[in-house]
Amino acid sequence: MNKVCNFCGNKNFKDARVQYIYRHDGKFLIVNDVPCEQCEFCGEQYFPAGVLQKIEADFQALQTKRRKAPAEILVPVESFA
Ligand SMILES: [Zn+2]
Repeated sequence: MNKVCNFCGNKNFKDARVQYIYRHDGKFLIVNDVPCEQCEFCGEQYFPAGVLQKIEADFQALQTKRRKAPAEILVPVESFA
């Protein structure tokens, strides 16, 4: 594989599983264990084709109540003061 990190130019990547936070119209979906390739130098994450589309589809399904997420969390929100 001849990939180069867009951010730091490093050529070494490792397979990783990360938490992805999808955000749309002020709503969030947290997806754990998302497969990606991660730059070994700066940590930038690169997702295989299809992964983000699947997350987007899952988000839409949750919004339209076609399915329910196995877990939900309450997130505090405040302004910096
Ligand atoms: Zn990098």
